[in-house]
Amino acid sequence: MPAIGEDLTGKKFGHWTVLNRDPVKNQIGGVRWMCRCDLCGKVHSIIGRQLKAGHSQHCRDCRYARKDQSFEDGGGLRIDRTGQKFGRWTLIAPVPRKRKWLCQCECGTQAEVATSNLGSGQSKQCLTCRQASRPRVAVSSQ
Ligand SMILES: [Zn+2]
Ligand SMILES: [Zn+2]
Repeated sequence: MPAIGEDLTGKKFGHWTVLNRDPVKNQIGGVRWMCRCDLCGKVHSIIGRQLKAGHSQHCRDCRYARKDQSFEDGGGLRIDRTGQKFGRWTLIAPVPRKRKWLCQCECGTQAEVATSNLGSGQSKQCLTCRQASRPRVAVSSQ
C-alpha cells in the first residue's frame, strides 16, 4: 500500500530535514520529498522509502567531503565553536553553505578560512601576520 497519506514534513533522517513533498516527481516511483542537507544546505528530492530505510543520510556532496565532518560535524554544525581560538585566529561565525569560518586575527584582520585548514593547523593567522612574523619567528620568545 503506497504511503501517499504519510506526512514526513519536518522529520529528520540522518542529515536530511524534510521540507515538503516533491510536487513534480511525486507520482513516479513512489513519493518523493524535498529534503535539505543540514551539512551544506542543499535541497534534493529523495524517495521516501529510501529515507525511511536509512539508505539516504545526506547528499552526495557531503558523502565525498566526509573528511571535513569530523571537525565540522562532530555532531553537526550546531556545535557552537564561536570564540574558539586557532593560533591567532578567533572564530567569529560559520560561513553559511561553505566549509569555512569567518575568523578574526589578533591584528584585527577578518578573513574566511577553510575549516580543514583550521583543523589541521595549516592556517593560524592572517597573511599579513604570517609575512610579518616569518623573519623574526626563529628568535621569538617561547
Ligand atoms: Zn550536503
Ligand atoms: Zn593578522
